[in-house]
Amino acid sequence: MSSERARNPTRIEFAPATSIPDYLTDEIQAKLAYVDERIVRAQVSSDHILLEVSPWDEAQSAAELEGKVQRVVLSMAKGAFKPKVQILEDHLDRPVSFRQDPMPELLRRGEVSQEADGVYTLGPLLTRLIAFFEDQFLSLAASFDAAPYRFPTLIPARYLERVNYFRAFPHSLTFVTHLREDLDVIDEFSQHAACDQHGLTTPPGSFDTIQTLLSPAVCYHLYFALADKPLPGGQVVATAVGNCFRYEAINLTSLERMWNFTMREVIFVGSKDFVLENRELARQRMAKFFEAIGLAYRVESANDPFFIGEFRKQAAFQSAFQLKFEIRASLPYKDSTLAVGSYNYHQDFFGRSLNISLPDGSPAHTGCVAFGLERIAFAFLAQFGLYPAQWPAQVRAHLPI
Ligand code: AMP
Ligand code: ZN
Repeated sequence: MSSERARNPTRIEFAPATSIPDYLTDEIQAKLAYVDERIVRAQVSSDHILLEVSPWDEAQSAAELEGKVQRVVLSMAKGAFKPKVQILEDHLDRPVSFRQDPMPELLRRGEVSQEADGVYTLGPLLTRLIAFFEDQFLSLAASFDAAPYRFPTLIPARYLERVNYFRAFPHSLTFVTHLREDLDVIDEFSQHAACDQHGLTTPPGSFDTIQTLLSPAVCYHLYFALADKPLPGGQVVATAVGNCFRYEAINLTSLERMWNFTMREVIFVGSKDFVLENRELARQRMAKFFEAIGLAYRVESANDPFFIGEFRKQAAFQSAFQLKFEIRASLPYKDSTLAVGSYNYHQDFFGRSLNISLPDGSPAHTGCVAFGLERIAFAFLAQFGLYPAQWPAQVRAHLPI
């Protein structure tokens, strides 16, 4: 999405084909980003949809666009039932010292530079703050004796295919390719490669078939490394940090939602009880840390952002079996919360899909604790401001500032 298109948008308004329950308005609004390239902003309430579209000329029919939007509404809202939100911890009322959006000041100071939509360079303040959080996450990993791993940034398409990723999250994939091994193609590229306002002008035929993508998660790499064999010792705990990529279209705003972000995970593979007990232990240990630094947050049940066709069924399944809990930190400046981490249990999904077996021959269960490094730092700044002198002593004590 280029910023040019965001200029002078046309407004299109209509009622949804079925009334949208309140708990689904945000999910449906986020999905409208993927409905049509001309949509630059969408706003959804239970009985009203507003689209801002650009470019748009009056001769264009709004009916076709509205038809696509109604497909999303009907697929996600019709017959949906309200998930029971389970709250495991609620510390949203912890007093915090700041109420502004940190982003404008971070940009002004050059502490954050935007390279492209959702792609940011971070300066020393954020880098040091992230290193502080990383230390805590590494202590959590050490408390489980987690084995350290380094995973690649690329992930083979056939891996993602094996775990049904293309059906569940097609909208957020990021593809990797290279020039075909052909002298004419490479010569042509080297002489004529140029960018216009949409990007690189190279003819699509110059690129090879896609074999790899940019990885959307960290723990998948461990499951692939363990695939098609018995699980060593019947259980594994591992930890890794990695770059993750999720294309979130017009939802890519500030450090809250990035295309390229980093995640630290602690990953558990073993029996059902082993995974669930460790996931719970991790939550309790993190609660102590969050209390020590005074973070305002709550932990509540959640679902992954499945794409439209898969959404209703899969989200209901995750919710019914309590597979995902998010750590949602308060963002005081917008009276809202942001997921800075998650406690996940995948049952034996990866064990079955990838043939990872326990000593009794049954498929292994998996779970992970995942922290978004940029998001936790951003939420911290949103609660405590940009001046380290005003930060909680427990954080200051660890920082060379
Ligand atoms: P998930 O696997 O979706 O639960 O993601 C784990 C954590 O990664 C989330 O709780 C966020 O903190 C972070 N995260 C996920 N998507 C993004 C994004 N688009 N931008 C920044 N952080 C993200
Ligand atoms: Zn994971």
